[in-house]
Amino acid sequence: VTMGRKFIVGGNWKMNGTKAQICEILDFLKKGPLNSDTEVVVGAPTIYLQFTQENKPNNVAVAAQNCYKVPKGAFTGEISPAMLKDIGIEWVILGHSERRHIFCESDELIADKVKHALENGLKVIACVGETLDEREAGKTEEVVFRQTQAIKDKITDWNNVVIAYEPVWAIGTGKTATPEQAQEVHQSLRCWFESNVGPDIANCIRIQYGGSVTEKNCKELAGQPDIDGFLVGGASLKPEFVQIVNARG
Ligand code: PGA
Repeated sequence: VTMGRKFIVGGNWKMNGTKAQICEILDFLKKGPLNSDTEVVVGAPTIYLQFTQENKPNNVAVAAQNCYKVPKGAFTGEISPAMLKDIGIEWVILGHSERRHIFCESDELIADKVKHALENGLKVIACVGETLDEREAGKTEEVVFRQTQAIKDKITDWNNVVIAYEPVWAIGTGKTATPEQAQEVHQSLRCWFESNVGPDIANCIRIQYGGSVTEKNCKELAGQPDIDGFLVGGASLKPEFVQIVNARG
């Protein structure tokens, strides 16, 4: 059913952590054990990317939580994919709902960032998801398709893209989507890829679920056929992240 898609679990630390706390997180990741069938990525704050990269175990990769759409120049406060590559970072999380809603990033800006990150050899976790109002108005599919289409308008090669479906109402709220609710949207997204990109990409693109994933709910979510991993916020700061990585074990 999973078409050989490798399970992938990301930790999104957001704006959390000190060097000391990051050492504790890296310690529980080193201790693991982490299922070798699962790809693991941790998203560190920009200032700690190099520290995390230098102190992480080999079976964990590091992601930036954002980057800009051009290589360099007069863009105060921004970082480029080229800079991330320069310090050995392999991944970037783009279009997170906090970037969309708090920092007003548009579908188009996010798509430009995805395109530029891919062109520079980064792998991208591209986040999509509806707000509670949008869900209650029956617009979930319309919203996630629009967000994904904006990316499709700018890129043709999806091989280094992972989609994270994160319903905004489930992020940091303790209100997880039920396995059925999540599966429904993951399946719709995969059908969208089949119709709009092609069957091969639809079969192999990995779609993570994000939003209040915990040690308790991860196994049932991981059992859904179109859920290929998780993007984890709060619980990625705690030792229970190891159990979430191993949800498909
Ligand atoms: P949460 O965050 O697990 O704390 O809900 C998920 C995310 O924002 O990626």
